[in-house]
Amino acid sequence: MLISSPLQEMRRREAALRIINLQVKRRGRSHLYDLTGLAGGFPLQNGDISLLETYAGPAIFEEALKPLAKKHLGGEKFLALNRTSSGILATILALVKPGSEVVHYLPLPPSHPSIPRSVELVGGKYREFDDLNQFKVGKKTSLVIITGSTMDHQIIPEHDFLKVIEISRKQGVPVFVDDASGARLRTIIYNQPRATDMGADLVVTSTDKLMDGPRGGLMAGNADLIDLIKSKSHQFGLEAQPPIVAGMVRALENFTPERILKAVDKKIRLYQALKGILKVKETPTGVMLSPDDLIEELKQFGVKTSLYPEELANLFAMILLRKYHIITIPAVGMPGASPTIRLDMASRDAERIDINYIINALKGTIEHLFRIIEDEKACRETLYK
Ligand SMILES: *Cc1c(COP(=O)(O)O)cnc(C)c1O
Repeated sequence: MLISSPLQEMRRREAALRIINLQVKRRGRSHLYDLTGLAGGFPLQNGDISLLETYAGPAIFEEALKPLAKKHLGGEKFLALNRTSSGILATILALVKPGSEVVHYLPLPPSHPSIPRSVELVGGKYREFDDLNQFKVGKKTSLVIITGSTMDHQIIPEHDFLKVIEISRKQGVPVFVDDASGARLRTIIYNQPRATDMGADLVVTSTDKLMDGPRGGLMAGNADLIDLIKSKSHQFGLEAQPPIVAGMVRALENFTPERILKAVDKKIRLYQALKGILKVKETPTGVMLSPDDLIEELKQFGVKTSLYPEELANLFAMILLRKYHIITIPAVGMPGASPTIRLDMASRDAERIDINYIINALKGTIEHLFRIIEDEKACRETLYK
């Protein structure tokens, strides 16, 4: 096996970061195309930097964030966290007792790994559903989690969302929504209401997904629950530090739905051009190739391999980065990140990449992958060198 542990995933990520470092140094940032849709950003203004102090920073920027968070997520109170994963951990630490159960409803697996891992950490039981007919909340359920949009941008239908809330409400169990990308994808592209407007008690979103903010988690919801989670987050150092909070403020001030809507247009053109060539699928703002699609692709060309689908996806992403300077999550993602190759037209860099360049890069990458697939040494070098 080429990749068999989180440690090896970390090595692959380190190799990808080394390649990016070299490419930027040699040819400049403009030769790189980050199409992850998670490029982050730090749009600070003049004067902000001098306020990034431990106590003055939160005093200024958390106050400024209040109305912006309210507009974006609704809810009575908000909390800024270091990452969305930190928000998930803080919530589970605060609301889930050992031996109690967390029930998670998502449109399609996989779930973000921080959810089952956090439940395990507190000694809770975890059940996951993607079929409403199976979904059950029991006496031991302490928290219901809904994923609004998965890592692969599968969107929950509004009807399912409302139904899960209704069932949970009847049992008096709080509902927490992982709306990392969903807070924008669901509302802007699918015209769904905000999670809190549908009756969710808590929602968290990622300020670097489909917006140009720093990687961080912004949570909002019921004031009493937010207080409990806030207190936990301070105890374990999960809360956002002043630079992140300031970045969130400026990113939310700049945020408009236009780029996401424009991305939908570009996605449609890209998908139309690609679908006869590769087994890509559409996402709300881009296209994707899943590990299983890659296996299908291989079969069609009569290529055999003993590699796992996830390994193929990682190889594909590393070739795409090395040869075509395109960044996707399976190259740079942290251990446990989704292995799906997603090209997000809502990424900032998507505005300056030509559709033909992308098509050419995907074709070239597949051909390269087929050439090295039997050569274990070449595969290892592609992943780790
Ligand atoms: C990205 C994502 C997260 C985690 O965000 P981080 O900023 O990496 O902690 C959690 N859940 C979903 C559905 C996501 O897409």
